[in-house]
Amino acid sequence: MQGWHELRHKQLWTGPRRGLNLPPVSLKKESKMIQNHLPSYLHPEQLGAWGIYLEQIDRVAPYLGHLSRWIETLKRPKRILIVDVPIELDNGTVAHFEGYRVQHNTSRGPGKGGVRFHQDVTLYEVMALSAWMSVKNAAVNLPFGGAKGGVRVDPRTLSRGELERVTRRYTSEIGLIIGPTKDIPAPDVNTNEQIMAWMMDTYSMNEGATATGVVTGKPIALGGSLGRKDATGRGVFTVAEEAARRIGLDLKGARVAVQGLGNVGGVAARLFAQAGSRVVAVQDHAGTVYNEAGLDVPALLAHVAQHGSVQGFGSAESLSMDRFWQVPCDILVPAALEQQITAANAHQIQARMVIEGANGPTTPEADDILHERGILVVPDVIANAGGVTVSYFEWVQDFSSFFWSEDEINARLVRIMREAFESIWKVADEHKVSLRTATFIIACTRMLQARELRGLYP
Ligand code: NAD
Repeated sequence: MQGWHELRHKQLWTGPRRGLNLPPVSLKKESKMIQNHLPSYLHPEQLGAWGIYLEQIDRVAPYLGHLSRWIETLKRPKRILIVDVPIELDNGTVAHFEGYRVQHNTSRGPGKGGVRFHQDVTLYEVMALSAWMSVKNAAVNLPFGGAKGGVRVDPRTLSRGELERVTRRYTSEIGLIIGPTKDIPAPDVNTNEQIMAWMMDTYSMNEGATATGVVTGKPIALGGSLGRKDATGRGVFTVAEEAARRIGLDLKGARVAVQGLGNVGGVAARLFAQAGSRVVAVQDHAGTVYNEAGLDVPALLAHVAQHGSVQGFGSAESLSMDRFWQVPCDILVPAALEQQITAANAHQIQARMVIEGANGPTTPEADDILHERGILVVPDVIANAGGVTVSYFEWVQDFSSFFWSEDEINARLVRIMREAFESIWKVADEHKVSLRTATFIIACTRMLQARELRGLYP
């Protein structure tokens, strides 16, 4: 009969190996291997966006000096919560949705990152997005770690009441680990300020006290910040200005193609048009519109607000989805979903620079192709950091109950984005690496310095 300790060791040591289909080895031999086994939830064949993130970390490791001893910290989320979200539908039946909240790293401060409602959301995707939030927050030097959440649901199939019930049940379930000093959600794909209001209310009701600082991206009337709605698009535009200046591209008259005309792409397109650029192509989930002379962006935004998509917009040619990537332009802004620029279309891209509004829109192979072709890529982890920067302002304002003017917010945002871009540009130049690797060098150094200074507890 085996003793409890033996049994416990056997389960601990053979479990993960069995999951990976590796031959059993003796306990003695494994005593060194235990610290290197993959977490059981990792299936090397299906990593998706998380696999891309791991590759990015591997690429940066050689630049981290003695801190690379802590690198494994960045390859494992600190905490993963998977929740069941049951709601009663309007027709009286009960539906179940799967929800996630992943806290990737909290060495530098509370977790921070959006919540996505999408029918294709997976745990790996949320893990990757949470890790990119860690990198992003560290890259712009905000006192936050990285986190992300999601619910596997197509919100377009829900009534308003059903959407509210999904939001409130999900918030209650993740209420165990979120909070103004623990982890602060925000909007992402298919979530908005109304959803943040419901999240704030649900958390506050459960806590018995109004906690405005538990989420950002709230309506102004509930402690939201001026400028938050436009912040990500404004940040995209700011880094585009900085990058354009360095490669001698005049934004006035520059041709811009934008994928995704939502919160990020819509604002960026508007600011490019205001700066005198020609927004020649826009693609969303339903179609692609093109006009060599430049699309009328305010009219296009109004069309989308009315019809839900760019499809059918007048005074523009309609293109097939694939043709979007071949459009002659100077600046390409992917601002929709991840893994859009791949080895299959990277050769066709005509732009001088790619500004990643979306998270993870470029696969590592495509990144290499663009690099070889001399196309400058401003990576997501800096290009779309404007949103979380103003989220940080919102959180600070909520804590101090003192609110700033929109001009103050925009000026501070632009200053932070410019300074971050400048330091990344310098590191890229110093090490002769891409802007992505440079951003990762800065961010990973900050995270691992914090890790080392804090030490391991207990
Ligand atoms: P959104 O829901 O407001 O807009 C998404 C847009 O993408 C819509 O125009 C939609 O039609 C389009 N789209 C969806 N699927 C598509 C497809 N298959 N092909 C082409 N277009 C498609 O979302 P958002 O808030 O603008 O976020 C866009 C991206 O930016 C996401 O990757 C998100 O993670 C990232 N991001 C958002 C913020 C923010 O503050 N909202 C901050 C940082 C990063």
